[in-house]
Amino acid sequence: MMPGVSELSHSSSILIIGAGTWGVSTALHLARRGYTNVTVLDEYPQPSQISAGNDLNKICSFVNPPDESDKDYANQIFFAALSKGFKEDPIFQPHFHEVGIVMSALSPGGLQQIQKRNQEGFDMTELNEPEDFQKTMPSGILTGPVRGWKGFWRKNGAGWVHARNALLSAIVESQRLGVNFNCRYPQGKAVRLLHRNPDPTNNNGLTGDVIGVETQDNKRYFASRVILATGANSDQFLDFKKQLRPTAWTLAHIRMSPEEAKSYANLPVLFNADQGFFMEPDQDNHELKICDEHPGYCNWVIGADGERRSVPFARQQIPIESAKRIRALLRATMPQLADRPFSFARLCWCADTVDRNFLIDFHPDHPSLLLAVGASGRGFAHIPSIGGFIADRLEGRMEAKVAAAVRWRPEQALNRNWDDTLNRFGGQYKVMNLQEITEWTNIPNGYTESLLNTKNP
Ligand SMILES: Cc1cc2nc3c(=O)[nH]c(=O)nc-3n(C[C@H](O)[C@H](O)[C@H](O)COP(=O)(O)OP(=O)(O)OC[C@H]3O[C@@H](n4cnc5c(N)ncnc54)[C@H](O)[C@@H]3O)c2cc1C
Repeated sequence: MMPGVSELSHSSSILIIGAGTWGVSTALHLARRGYTNVTVLDEYPQPSQISAGNDLNKICSFVNPPDESDKDYANQIFFAALSKGFKEDPIFQPHFHEVGIVMSALSPGGLQQIQKRNQEGFDMTELNEPEDFQKTMPSGILTGPVRGWKGFWRKNGAGWVHARNALLSAIVESQRLGVNFNCRYPQGKAVRLLHRNPDPTNNNGLTGDVIGVETQDNKRYFASRVILATGANSDQFLDFKKQLRPTAWTLAHIRMSPEEAKSYANLPVLFNADQGFFMEPDQDNHELKICDEHPGYCNWVIGADGERRSVPFARQQIPIESAKRIRALLRATMPQLADRPFSFARLCWCADTVDRNFLIDFHPDHPSLLLAVGASGRGFAHIPSIGGFIADRLEGRMEAKVAAAVRWRPEQALNRNWDDTLNRFGGQYKVMNLQEITEWTNIPNGYTESLLNTKNP
C-alpha cells in the first residue's frame, strides 16, 4: 500500500461520484461484498437524465468465456462476466430480452467489423438478399428494400436490455443493502476533488492524494477512497492526459399505438454498422427508439493552452442531419414509420479511450482515487458485472492481464488523433463537430429546466 493511504476495510468510507451505469453497478457490488459506508453523488435525481444508461434499451450480446491464449482476453473476460450476470443475477436477468440480433452492414469496413461479433456456439444464419432480412421479422414489419445489406442473424445469446429499468433495479437493490444516494442539484453535483496538502505552486494546487469532493452547495465530503464514475464528464475533474474523448451519439423515439407496439413485439434487434439500429418498441409507453450509426459528435472548444477539448453538454434535441439519417434507416427498413414525428430525441454522451478499452485504475499521483471511466460507447451491457471489476481493482485483486488492459495509460494518448473514427462507420464516416451544427430538431418539451440550468454552454 502507498504511504499515507489508509487500510481498506468493510467500514471504510467510499465515495462514488456519478450514479450512472458504472457508478451504480459499483455501489451494488461493494454493498454485496459487505462495504457498509458507501455514498453515491449525482447532480440529477435517479436515474440521471444525462446518464448514457438512462435509455429505453441497449444492445447486449453474450460471449463464451475466453481461453488464456485469447489475444482479446481482457475484453472477453468482461463480456463473459456480463453474460453470466444477465443469465443469473435476479437484479438484472428480468431486464434482458433474448430476442436475437440481425447484424448487418453496407460498406466493406462495416462488414469486417460485424464479423468480429460472429461468435461460435450460437445459432447463426447468414443473410445476403433483401428477402433474407425481411424473413427475420413477421410480415408487414421489414417492408423496406434493405438494399445492399449483408450480414447474419444470431438467434440466441443476444438481444436488448431495458436499460432504465436495469439501472433502477440496481439502484433500488443498492439502497436496500444500505448504500446512501445523494442525487440532486446542487447537493449531489461534484465541482472539484479535494486534495491532501494542496500545493498552490504546483500543478494548479491539485497535488497530494484525493481525500474527497466538494459539491455545488459548497459542502465537502471526505472519504477513504473516491471512485470517479462521471462518464463523459469525468475529464473536468483532472487532467486525463488526452486519454478520454467525450463523444456524443444521437437517438430519437417515435410513439406507436398500443396495438402497433404489440404487433412489433419480440423483434430481433436490427443493427446496421453503416446506417443505425433499433429494437422493438417499449411495451409500457409504446415508444420505438432509433439510432443512426456514425463515429460520433464532439463539441470542440479551444482551451487557453491552445489545445482542443470536447466539452459535453446535455440537449434533448438532435442535429437535423442526424434526424435525416434516422429517417433514411426507417425508409430502408420500415418505411411505414418513416414520416412519424419524433416524440423525443437527445444527445447521449460517453467517453472514448484511444483503444476503446476501459480505464479502471488508481490515479498514479492520487492513490486513493480510483478512476472508473472510458466506457467507450459500449459500457452499458456491462452493468451487471463492471462494478465487480471496479471493486476488484479497489481491493487490489484484479487479474493482472485485465488490469494491464484497463490501466492508466497516457503514453497511448501522447499524439492522440482526436478525429480517429475508432472503427466506427456510418454518418459522414468521420467524427463530426457539434460547433458546426446550425439546424436542430424542434421537438416540443425538448429541454427540462435543470438541463438548461446547468449544462448548455
Ligand atoms: C446513443 C447511445 C447508444 C448506446 N448503446 C449502447 C448499447 O447498445 N450497448 C452498450 O453496451 N452500450 C451502449 N452505449 C454506451 C453506454 O450507454 C455507456 O458506455 C455507459 O452507459 C456509460 O456508463 P458511465 O457510468 O460511464 O456513464 P453514465 O451512465 O453517463 O454516468 C455518468 C453519471 O455521472 C453523473 N455526473 C456527471 N457529472 C457529474 C458531477 N459533476 N457530479 C455528480 N454526478 C455527475 C451523470 O449525471 C451520470 O449519472 C450507448 C451510448 C449511447 C450514447
